Amino acid sequence: MAIEVEQRQQVEPAQDGPPPEVPERNIASLTPMMRQYLETKAQHPDAILFFRLGDFYEMFFEDAVKASAILQITLTARSKGDDRVPMCGVPFHAAKGYVAKLVEAGLKVAICDQVEEPGKTGIVRREVMRVVTPGMVLDEDLLDARSNNFLCALSLSGSGGGISLLDASTGEFYAGELSDDAALFDEVARSGAREVLVSQSDSLSERLSTLTRALPQLAVNPFNDEAFESGRAEAFLRTHFGTRTLEGFGLGALPRAVSAAGAALRYLKETQRSTAAHVDRIALHSASSCLALDESTRTNLELLRTSRDGKRRGSLLGLLDKSATAMGGRRLARWLSYPLLDLGEINRRLDAVGELAESAVAREELAAHLKEIADLERLTARLTLGQGNGRDLRALASSLLKLPQLARRLAGCQSALLKSLQGPLESLQDLAALLDRAVALEPPLSLKEGGILREGYDAELDRLVAIATKGKDFLLELEAKERERTGIGSLKVRYNRVFGYYLEVTKANLHLVPKDYVRKQTTAGGERFVTEALKQFEEQVLTAEERRYALEQSLFEGLRQKVVEKANPLRSAADAVAAADALLALARSAADYGYVRPVVDDSEVLEIVDGRHPVVERLLTGGEAFVPNDVRLDRAEQQVLVITGPNMAGKSTVMRQVALIALMAQAGSFVPARRAHIGRVDRIFTRVGAADNLSRGQSTFMVEMTETANILHNATARSLVVLDEIGRGTSTFDGLSIAWAVAEHLHDQVGARTLFATHYHELVDLSREKARVKNATIAVKELQGRVVFLRKLVSGGASRSYGIEVARLAGLPAEVLGRARQILANLEKAELDEAGRPSLSRSKRREPPAAQLGLFAAKEPPPPPYSPALESLRACDLDQLTPLAALNFLADLKAKLK
Ligand code: ATP
Repeated sequence: MAIEVEQRQQVEPAQDGPPPEVPERNIASLTPMMRQYLETKAQHPDAILFFRLGDFYEMFFEDAVKASAILQITLTARSKGDDRVPMCGVPFHAAKGYVAKLVEAGLKVAICDQVEEPGKTGIVRREVMRVVTPGMVLDEDLLDARSNNFLCALSLSGSGGGISLLDASTGEFYAGELSDDAALFDEVARSGAREVLVSQSDSLSERLSTLTRALPQLAVNPFNDEAFESGRAEAFLRTHFGTRTLEGFGLGALPRAVSAAGAALRYLKETQRSTAAHVDRIALHSASSCLALDESTRTNLELLRTSRDGKRRGSLLGLLDKSATAMGGRRLARWLSYPLLDLGEINRRLDAVGELAESAVAREELAAHLKEIADLERLTARLTLGQGNGRDLRALASSLLKLPQLARRLAGCQSALLKSLQGPLESLQDLAALLDRAVALEPPLSLKEGGILREGYDAELDRLVAIATKGKDFLLELEAKERERTGIGSLKVRYNRVFGYYLEVTKANLHLVPKDYVRKQTTAGGERFVTEALKQFEEQVLTAEERRYALEQSLFEGLRQKVVEKANPLRSAADAVAAADALLALARSAADYGYVRPVVDDSEVLEIVDGRHPVVERLLTGGEAFVPNDVRLDRAEQQVLVITGPNMAGKSTVMRQVALIALMAQAGSFVPARRAHIGRVDRIFTRVGAADNLSRGQSTFMVEMTETANILHNATARSLVVLDEIGRGTSTFDGLSIAWAVAEHLHDQVGARTLFATHYHELVDLSREKARVKNATIAVKELQGRVVFLRKLVSGGASRSYGIEVARLAGLPAEVLGRARQILANLEKAELDEAGRPSLSRSKRREPPAAQLGLFAAKEPPPPPYSPALESLRACDLDQLTPLAALNFLADLKAKLK
């Protein structure tokens, strides 16, 4: 054991600056333990190795240097001089948090544990039990209960490639193919994956850099090429699922999808050293089966998180997630990320939501049943991956016992979807009864303390427990008996790990010790003895205790195995619970917020009467009521709606609400409107606002144009396009020309239903030339000298933006506002001067410019027009002027006036 004790010697605290140098390794001089370390590390070169040494996980060499800096822990050294090895460590009981930090930083952590009791022979055997990576987090404390944690694998052959998404913590597994990189990378973003797996050869591909620039948080990890080889990947998947082909999963003719899926599953099995039985099915991830949303659209519409602070609160999901379980929350997030195209499926969801929305009693009954059900997906995953404990088994038992009631409630429903969910809930009662009979009501967290199982489950276990517990009574009896026999009132029976059980007698009483006591040890205060009876007892108790723990462990493993065997029906049941709960969430939202059922069909109409923005209407404060609006788009008469109107009037809001209502309808949700008719939309595109993407190396205008290009290339006649300003990031003429041409193209070539908000009021004229372009504006009214935003969308165009008045509301300095008014007046009079130059900087008007309509009455008269000649005159000190200088000054003034 001596070799296991490490000398910790501090070298320097972790801090910024260049990392300390790692000394060369002198293999010959290494201890056996360090050799074991290096052998293990060699198998996991790309991971930080947490090497268990007693009560610590230690890290050495480069790992120690890197980890100490991230974890802000002290870097110490083992040995001195040439043999100095940098090391740092974390207490094993607090390891979780440290692992989480490293994984958060995009690193992998290999957890190497002792796999035998120390002290038996030489060096303790150690093995890496699992590798935690950003996409392979299974610890419930480190996972967000309401979000999936997908690992994504990409196979980049040809144009586009194969993609697979695998959530090891729930068992969800998808694979598909996409024909171009943009769509492929959009899917990576849509999945929210934190880790992407690519083959070694793909990892060198230039194509990947586009992805990593777009998603800088993503950890990209190369994995061996063979795992991606499609023949091997297919064989691997077939063996795992026990099927002869992958046709049944729809992956028969998709070698690139199979390649990605095979690699993802192999990665899970290798990093977790598990059979991964909970991954019992794979679904075809087909972009063509759901409404396509690119990354910027999802961000702009704030579906799952707000774009400002990345929080769920304030997003559409945050609003609608009234689910009773975490499974329901995750399912709803998926439904909103992947709205449907199939009308049958959409209407089945709408039927179910409608049925529950109508009856508060039905909703609350369903919620009461669902609340009782723990996270079946994650429990099954943990237990299947060998990481669960007694509490997980108890939670599973209690939840499974509640399934029949839930099934009965669902069977009583009218809608086909709700009814169909009862089926998968019925086949697990054997497992429920077994677990209930076996597992204690409040088992301990640890698997090693005993107490996981109930009395009566296993006779042998009960017998061993009885010996162990009766042992205590025996010891008390023995102590009493010996006190009486010897007359030593202070005699005590004690136990320690080195000597086992002994009788302790203080110095003062040693003369009373009988002959049959065998002395074991002398201490400062007295002596320790054993007797024959105590020795016998010790043997019995200790072996009983050891046997008890071993038996309990194996019975626990047996139960865990039963869960593994039922992984498939458990996944199906979890799936049904998640769907029922997501439907409940939508029904609760529909009822609480007054939503209506949309008509979704194959027509080309998009008509919303009294539509509201679901999130904005909830956020309005100060008594302002949300003003509902009507919007109609179709392909025959009103395909492109050009919306003009003042700043702050509500253009963005009305456009986003149309996109959100269409999306919600196709996700199966009721919508915030009095009436909504949604002719199926295949893609929603939004281009909103201006933001640069420096990490992507794109300027504001470049981002704007890239997004516009994407829309023009990919929108179809079935798409919904929302353009909130085009061409604002460049000069006025360039911008206006681009905006005009884009609108024309959408009208003439693409045919997509389009909402186009703009401050280029010239675009209003487009409706004269293009038959299906119509104008709308958001009305404002002047009331007692103030402009009131009416928030009402009416037909017609606006002629001004009142931008300066909004700038004034925002607190721009008065001088800047005054000057802006002058410039505006100039511009409104004539865009260019006689020489064809922009006339922005000069003021040619002698009379004060007509003031822009004020939101609030102006308090002071506007300042006189700016004149360089006047400025010079004002600044000139006549007393200091020589006659010659005066003449020159005069000439200069004249020149300025010209
Ligand atoms: P800009 O041209 O400056 O971007 P905008 O016309 O796009 O402005 P929005 O951002 O849509 O204006 O709306 C500004 C604010 O007006 C919103 O944040 C919201 O508080 C309020 N608002 C918008 N629409 C409505 C409405 N229909 N009812 C009530 N308040 C609304």
